[in-house]
Amino acid sequence: MPKKRFGQNFLIDHSIAKEMVERAGVLPGETVLEIGAGKGMLTETLLEKGAKVVAFEIDRDLFDMLKSRFKDRDVKFIFQDFLKFNDALKLDRCVSNIPYNISTPILKKMFDMQVPFITVMVQKEYAQRLMAKTRTKAYGSLTTFVKLRYEVKKILDVGKESFFPIPSVDSSVLNMIKTQRWMSVVKDEKLLDEIVRKAFSHKRKMIRNNLREFENVKTMLNALNISENARAEELSVKQFIELSNLIFDQIYNTRVF
Ligand code: SAH
Repeated sequence: MPKKRFGQNFLIDHSIAKEMVERAGVLPGETVLEIGAGKGMLTETLLEKGAKVVAFEIDRDLFDMLKSRFKDRDVKFIFQDFLKFNDALKLDRCVSNIPYNISTPILKKMFDMQVPFITVMVQKEYAQRLMAKTRTKAYGSLTTFVKLRYEVKKILDVGKESFFPIPSVDSSVLNMIKTQRWMSVVKDEKLLDEIVRKAFSHKRKMIRNNLREFENVKTMLNALNISENARAEELSVKQFIELSNLIFDQIYNTRVF
């Protein structure tokens, strides 16, 4: 019996797995990380493509089946919670159909591991949040957090009927490519993340109120040609960086407002 608590909805349509692996651009000989092997549909497809797979799976009831199904194949199983894994792995990319209930912690962990290319199946609405444009409901701190680090593109929509058990939500597959474009001009990454999070903490409030603990935010917004009444959802990734760099300068006294 598939387990809800582990977010188990197994892919049953082999053509979807194939398309995912194709569109991900997996090359023979690459080492590919898979989070949540499940019954091995995607694992099998990655191996068919000639990849070496490193696959995590948390559910003990699947261990024996996976071990025997992939005996003598080019796959290394790590039977533990991916979120608790702390060793180094050398990877070329990640291709996964991840458990939707822990999508954000999984993505953050992949970011920490510096995975250069990520192809993930996620809930459709979650995909929309990652790709959201400014001034839309889906645009939020998650959007900004991800856009700062990865270029995100949707490559596939997948209907509920491609899974067993049939989930209540639709899915999308995203290609994410690591980029230095933004981070290379950020003065303090931690500060930026904190500012983004706090700016969106009350979405309906003006940014200067959400960031009240920092001085002179109103003056900084003016200096950046942003309305002093702006809400977080109006700011682009670039504007968040500019604002956080100004706050950084103020904290470290290199600029007085
Ligand atoms: N890739 C498979 C399974 C997708 S379902 C397929 O496409 O069919 C998600 C899988 O992730 C399940 O097998 C679930 O047991 C596993 N999983 C859930 N939480 C996990 C975690 N923290 N670490 C590793 N695997 C996890």
